[in-house]
Amino acid sequence: MARVIAVANQKGGVGKTTTAVNLGAYLAATQIGRVLLVDMDPQANATSWLSRAQPKPERTMYDVLVDRVPLADVVRATLEGSLALAPSSPVLAGAQVELVDAPDRDVRLRGALQSIVDDFDLVIIDCPPSLGLLTVNALVAADAVLVPVQCEYLALEGLGQLVEVIDAVRERLNARLELLGVLLTMHDGRTNLSTQVIDEVRRHFPSETYASVVPRSVRLSEAPSYGQSILTYDAGSRGAQAYAGLAEEVIRRGYGP
Ligand code: ATP
Ligand code: MG
Repeated sequence: MARVIAVANQKGGVGKTTTAVNLGAYLAATQIGRVLLVDMDPQANATSWLSRAQPKPERTMYDVLVDRVPLADVVRATLEGSLALAPSSPVLAGAQVELVDAPDRDVRLRGALQSIVDDFDLVIIDCPPSLGLLTVNALVAADAVLVPVQCEYLALEGLGQLVEVIDAVRERLNARLELLGVLLTMHDGRTNLSTQVIDEVRRHFPSETYASVVPRSVRLSEAPSYGQSILTYDAGSRGAQAYAGLAEEVIRRGYGP
């Protein structure tokens, strides 16, 4: 049975996609199992990143959610070892509108994942920066949520709302959902503010915050333009070491592939 991790935070640009792809690459590289990255963001950043030099996908998560195309029909291989991708495209934004009257609109993704549980050992879902239908589908389908938080002013702003949505999904639709962890991203060791944010987040989430902290790193921001994870692009960089550490912590918390 595949375990499912949703990478979510309704705040934009906090490192969700960077985390989903790089964590996926590290967990796939352990070669313990096969990892599927599901792109649930209409911006399709993870899809562009992992689909360099490939034709645009004909069918995407839109077709899976709205027309119930089998998930296996949209999954494609990537250049990152055993990491596979279920791609997105901008039309996915329309799914929110088209499913508005569907009684099962919140559980479509969970249903779709049931058909691939024997093909993958771990599923990572990259969520869009909103708390709408696409993120709710991810939370309903997930065993655990991983929340990247950027080390900047007002980092905790909005996290209360996210925790409320997680609690509501747990009560109504998915009792097993847990907050797997809070990941501090884009830490700049030269500024006091960045370090103060680490202390503040650790005070609020003492047991949930990962020991691994992702530094602000040019190498991390360059890797997508080469279509590579940080593991392939520059495994010796500090950003790579942080994601390697995160992968170990995720495995230790019971979510290895
Ligand atoms: P969105 O909410 O739009 O989906 P996101 O939360 O997925 O954004 P990313 O796309 O992962 O955030 O990151 C936002 C930008 O910051 C990207 O250009 C990315 O390359 C860059 N970035 C992410 N993490 C780091 C880091 N640790 N150091 C430097 N740049 C980073
Ligand atoms: Mg993103």
